[in-house]
Amino acid sequence: MFQKILIANRGEIALRVLRACKELGIQTVVVHSTADADAMHVRLADESVCIGPPPSRDSYLNIHQIVAACEITGADAVHPGYGFLSENAKFADILAAHNITFIGPSGDHIRIMGDKIEAKRTAKRLGIPVVPGSDGAVTEEKEARRIAAEIGYPVIIKASAGGGGRGMKVAHTEADLEIALQTARSEAGAAFGDDAVYIEKYLEKPRHIEVQVFGDGFGGGVHFGERDCSLQRRHQKVWEEANSPALNAEERSRIGGICAKAIADLGYSGAGTIEFLYENGEFYFIEMNTRLQVEHPVTEAITGIDLVHEQIRVASGGGLSVKQEDIKFNGHAIECRINAEDPRTFTPSPGTITHFHTPGGLGIRVDSGVYSGYKIPPYYDSLIGKLIVHGRNRVECMMRLRRALDEFVVDGIKTTLPLFRDLVGNADIANGDYDIHWLEKYLAKGE
Ligand code: ADP
Repeated sequence: MFQKILIANRGEIALRVLRACKELGIQTVVVHSTADADAMHVRLADESVCIGPPPSRDSYLNIHQIVAACEITGADAVHPGYGFLSENAKFADILAAHNITFIGPSGDHIRIMGDKIEAKRTAKRLGIPVVPGSDGAVTEEKEARRIAAEIGYPVIIKASAGGGGRGMKVAHTEADLEIALQTARSEAGAAFGDDAVYIEKYLEKPRHIEVQVFGDGFGGGVHFGERDCSLQRRHQKVWEEANSPALNAEERSRIGGICAKAIADLGYSGAGTIEFLYENGEFYFIEMNTRLQVEHPVTEAITGIDLVHEQIRVASGGGLSVKQEDIKFNGHAIECRINAEDPRTFTPSPGTITHFHTPGGLGIRVDSGVYSGYKIPPYYDSLIGKLIVHGRNRVECMMRLRRALDEFVVDGIKTTLPLFRDLVGNADIANGDYDIHWLEKYLAKGE
């Protein structure tokens, strides 16, 4: 087992990882920018190293500084959290070259899944159902037209190097195709320095359902069920549930089984998430994330298993603490992402939190790095906390969520809490009847 883990992240996820390390008796080092000197993860860690000024590229993305911090403190492993360097294959390779363990998959697996065309090809080869579309990159309009006619309109053109929902264009008819292809290519080139694009059937009313998988590092793979993250705004997840209100136990174990087998066949190690669009009973692979997800706590709530413990165990060569048959799904969990944003316009609202009071009681978990008197710096993501609620079934979970939202107080800044207070009383949400466009339509009506 590791002696000392360096946590290369900030905010709630740095604290989340720190807690897991403490439970496992592992020493912790955190790195931080000058803007985060007062952050909770810095206060609670055994050691901290300031690695640079506020902009992420000079601090949380500065590989040299982070490796130097490992060497100075003698850390033998790095947990990257999510975002920042968590899906940076070069970072994983550099750490390996310095004999420091990257708590995540190999650089090669990160590289495959980071290239969407390669990822889709790999998924298909491993028996994962994919969206019908081109086999690889498409450059010629003639070829695009042939493929689109074959799969049928509407189609979506996506950047191979894409991320964060950027570089995507929908063509509803053949007349739209040429311009969509050109715009997608030039946007992809400008945003990612790579203008390779591919074509897929555009699904009109899908849900976003993702499967949590784990490779044990010895060629075995398991799944921890799915999460439904269909409630999104601008491709950002807002509310996540486990299990999905749309799946039954048989569908869960079928898609879970396919994913677990694929992970084993790939020889993948550590945590991963295989993301699908789901429509009319069919799953369509869109991408795989090779890291811990923001929404992992809903899976922890229904399985009772600490996924960060499992990541650390696997990375240290100790394998998983559970076998597939030990993973049972108990009740229902919902996570609300609380952002320091105006709940109507979603413009960031940094500043000082004058009062912070979190809800408590059975089935409530709050993952947050903020506190009363904390000043939110304007440089980073606006996520200030996550409220995770568990109940024996979805109805109980929703009742508990409603009362937890009533108890939650954040003064001094604007947050998205009022949005969740609205959502929890909505009939479609109560019925689990929503797709990936539902939230945007709901927000548009309210304005
Ligand atoms: P990114 O890595 O940029 O997030 P994804 O491939 O994960 O890109 O797609 C992001 C979002 O775009 C999906 O959650 C979905 O809302 C939409 N999308 C992607 N592919 C399709 C498709 N074939 N049909 C309909 N919507 C799609």
